[in-house]
Amino acid sequence: MSISDNIYNLRKSLPIGVELIAVSKTKPIQVLDEAYQAGQRHFGENKVQEMVQKYEAMPKDIFWHMIGHLQSNKVKYMASFVHLIHGVDNTSLLEEINKQGRKHDRVIDCLLQIKIAQEETKFGLEPEAALAILQSQEYKNFKFVRITGLMGMATFTTDTAQIQKEFELLKSTFDQFRSLDSRIETLSMGMSGDFKIAIDCGSNLVRVGSLIFGERN
Ligand SMILES: *Cc1c(COP(=O)(O)O)cnc(C)c1O
Repeated sequence: MSISDNIYNLRKSLPIGVELIAVSKTKPIQVLDEAYQAGQRHFGENKVQEMVQKYEAMPKDIFWHMIGHLQSNKVKYMASFVHLIHGVDNTSLLEEINKQGRKHDRVIDCLLQIKIAQEETKFGLEPEAALAILQSQEYKNFKFVRITGLMGMATFTTDTAQIQKEFELLKSTFDQFRSLDSRIETLSMGMSGDFKIAIDCGSNLVRVGSLIFGERN
C-alpha cells in the first residue's frame, strides 16, 4: 500500500469531526510531499528543529503540530507558524509561549498534556494540576497563548481495557474543562495502535504515524 492509499483509507474510516494528524517525525520531505499530494494538511513533528526545516521546505498551507515534549528555549523557532502545541505541562512553558506569541503578535494555541498512562516515562500533568493552571490568574493574564484542549497518551499495552480506561479518564477531564471554559474544544488522543479506541472514547484529533508512513527506524 502506498502512503496515499493509507491516508485515503484512514480518512474514510474516521467519523466526521475527527481530524487526522500525519505524524511525520524522522521521515524525509519526499515522504511528506507524497502525503501532501494525497490531500493531507495536518502534520505532526516531535522535534522543533526538524519541524522548522520541514516548514521551510513544504507548502505554506500546512498546519504544523508540535507533539513532542518541548523545552522553553525552543519555542522561539516555531512561534511564527506553529498551529498547535500539544505537550504543554507546566506554567513556565506557557509563559514562554505567551512571550513568543506577543513578539509575533499572534495567539498560539496549546493543549495541556495529561498523564493517563501507567508508565513512569510519559510526561504530563495530573488532571487536578492541569485544572489549577487553567483557572490560575497567571494564565488569565496571558494574552498570546490559549489553552484549547487536552492531549494524552495511553499506556503502551495490548490490554485494550486498560487503554480504554485511560482514554475515558481523559475524556471526562476534557468534559470538565469544557464546562468551565468555552475555548476548550480539542481532545488529542489516539495513535496508530489505539486510535480506534480513542475515537470511541471521544477523541476529535488523532496522531497517526507508522500506520501511514510505515515503521520508523
Ligand atoms: C510518534 C508519536 C505519535 C505517532 O505514533 P505512531 O504509533 O507511529 O502512530 C503520536 N503521538 C506522539 C506524541 C508521538 O510522539
